[in-house]
Amino acid sequence: MTRRTPPRPVDVEQLFPEVAPLRRQAVRLHPRAGTPSREESSVGGPLLWPERDAWPLCPEHLGSPMVPIVQLRAVDAFGVVEFPPGRDLLQVLWCPRAHDGRWVVPEVRWRAAAAVGKVREAPPVLAGTPVGHVPTPCVVHPELITEYPSWDLPYPLWDALLPRFARVEAETGWDYQYHLSTAPGIKLGGYPGWCQDPQWPDCSGCRKPMDHLLTVASVEADGHSESPWTPLEDVGVRYEGAGLMLGDMGGVHLFECRTCPDRPVKDRFDS
Ligand SMILES: [Zn+2]
Ligand SMILES: [Zn+2]
Repeated sequence: MTRRTPPRPVDVEQLFPEVAPLRRQAVRLHPRAGTPSREESSVGGPLLWPERDAWPLCPEHLGSPMVPIVQLRAVDAFGVVEFPPGRDLLQVLWCPRAHDGRWVVPEVRWRAAAAVGKVREAPPVLAGTPVGHVPTPCVVHPELITEYPSWDLPYPLWDALLPRFARVEAETGWDYQYHLSTAPGIKLGGYPGWCQDPQWPDCSGCRKPMDHLLTVASVEADGHSESPWTPLEDVGVRYEGAGLMLGDMGGVHLFECRTCPDRPVKDRFDS
């Protein structure tokens, strides 16, 4: 079943034309507990991983295998993130154990699905792994949406718009930051789903700000709440998602440099 985010309940670009040039597209994955195949896009599902490649181990926990977080086929990215030439599969894993100053340690791989050949099974998850750091296997329902900056709104613009944000909220009940700007949940591209002030990383190679690749958030829009981000199909519906709990309902944000060779990745965490 598809998942459709309803249109914003007010016309964002008409009310706040200043944010129109900052519009970005993102792909909400809408993970729902299920049994994805290793050929499909998934959250916490089996990865199309070649037997010839060793399974990634955490550099901080010797011998501790990483767990699958997201697998995304290029066709499910809707062009929001350009895949490297010849690659059509994005795979994100992380070490779910506790780390000094970090919740998880991620790993990003880009593959050509047709070149995988014989498949390697994922090793079992180690006993004692923190609850909420390993996603429940989910099928996904990728959906292309439009976002505007929330925490990433430049300060001068924020100051200029604040009176209008307040007026619109008083008149309609919709809060720009929570209801009109960035989508909750696990998403590709768009703006990071920050819970607090941005900590946008610079690339260690070229020193330029990196691009947002993926946000892995603890929660999707709540089908029971009045959130305008709840897909039409899920209004009033109780569903099981990935079951993640990163810090206090926080998120892991992955960034990459698309101009440096090998697309270096950095991660940020907040809650
Ligand atoms: Zn680790
Ligand atoms: Zn770079």
